[in-house]
Amino acid sequence: MAVMTGPKSVELRQVEVPELQDDDVLVQVKSSAVCGSDVHMYKGKHPFASLPCTFGHEVSGEVVQIGKKVNRVKVGDRVCVEPLTICEHCYYCLRGEYAYCENLKLKYKSVGGFCDYYVASEKWVHKLGSEMSYNEGCLMEPLAVAVHAVGRSRLTMGSSVAILGDGAIGLMLLAVAKGLGVHPIIITGASGKNLELAKSLGATTTVRSGEADPVEEAKKQTNGLGVDVSFEAVGLSLTFNQAILSLKSGGRAVILGLFTEELVPTDLTPELRREKEIVGTTSYCWDFETAIDLVQNGVVNLKPLITHELPLGELKTALETKSDLSSGAVKVIVHP
Ligand SMILES: [Zn+2]
Ligand SMILES: [Zn+2]
Repeated sequence: MAVMTGPKSVELRQVEVPELQDDDVLVQVKSSAVCGSDVHMYKGKHPFASLPCTFGHEVSGEVVQIGKKVNRVKVGDRVCVEPLTICEHCYYCLRGEYAYCENLKLKYKSVGGFCDYYVASEKWVHKLGSEMSYNEGCLMEPLAVAVHAVGRSRLTMGSSVAILGDGAIGLMLLAVAKGLGVHPIIITGASGKNLELAKSLGATTTVRSGEADPVEEAKKQTNGLGVDVSFEAVGLSLTFNQAILSLKSGGRAVILGLFTEELVPTDLTPELRREKEIVGTTSYCWDFETAIDLVQNGVVNLKPLITHELPLGELKTALETKSDLSSGAVKVIVHP
């Protein structure tokens, strides 16, 4: 199992496979993807994970053992994992709004996804259809993030969209929005390669940061009005403000970025007077099944986003590759 022992330092440790509780399943990991937040951690900049810790939460694999009370999943099932631990008894859990759980834990202190075997409660594994690969399966976690954010945006057919950020989440937002029949879709980012990929996934216009102003571009594409919906998927004050300024009156900015530095917003008074909405979004809540459906039915194709595959022994290289903007990495997948 991989442990992040300090910034830029990763260790693979031999540990016992944990004992299964009655409602647990044991997943033999086949694919684990590196997330942008793992890179934040690797750089020692994650806002709420303190080192040392286990990491890796984009996981798929085969069920090889089940606890006594498990009945929905059987040995041999191909699954992905929803990597949350909730208390099941707080106000929000009782309402089914489990992403708001007051005692929510990400598994930074127990198991991580970069390992041979992963223990998950039966209710947190989702079955993959036979036509879906394990590589696509491990991407259901970030895709669920995009699905949830698109739900928060209340996008409808014919809406115009600006996506700030061309990382994996930005590209997944693009793919989901495209699937909804949205037009135009403007995407901005720092990587020429990712923007090319965005174009092939159906972006109407791509804007390379520094070369053109995303706000101007959003207006140009919408007869000077601005877009209905924007998504901030970077985590910088600059893109936060662009997300708000590129909206038309009454538009909605959905903020996904992980802000590691202080957020300095633009003067919001005139924007709020134009009834713009700033909407938060966090992880997912009942979104995995939708994510799986989108891929299984060919609405969203994630294969072009898988740029690198490495063995678990080269996890450090995987993290370096994902952190290096010039590598062209979108999703880096590790195999035990
Ligand atoms: Zn993630
Ligand atoms: Zn709870």
